[in-house]
Amino acid sequence: MDEKCSKYESLFTFRSEEELMEHVNSCPECRYEHEQMQKVSELINEVKPYYRKKRKNAARFKAACALFLIAVCTTTLGVINLNTDVADTLKYGQTLTAEDLGLPVDSYGLIYFTE
Ligand SMILES: [Zn+2]
Repeated sequence: MDEKCSKYESLFTFRSEEELMEHVNSCPECRYEHEQMQKVSELINEVKPYYRKKRKNAARFKAACALFLIAVCTTTLGVINLNTDVADTLKYGQTLTAEDLGLPVDSYGLIYFTE
């Protein structure tokens, strides 16, 4: 049994296209290999635009994620700043009552004012 011709790769890599084609035309094994290569490169060319488009969409998706995260963060911080109970719980570990804040309160914990 003949050994498989291994010239294709070296011709493809180191020699000119004419030399490669010359050998491809005279060697069935390399012709077969060349055809396979052509098929692969055709396939790559077909698939390329699809992947390029996909990559663009991925970038857009990432940007959308970042924006969403920023929106969520600012909304959450906004809620904490507006809702002092949440802020107090985070800062002091408990909700501060009016009494804790040093205001005069009655037995119900409600602020009362004396005249
Ligand atoms: Zn060959």
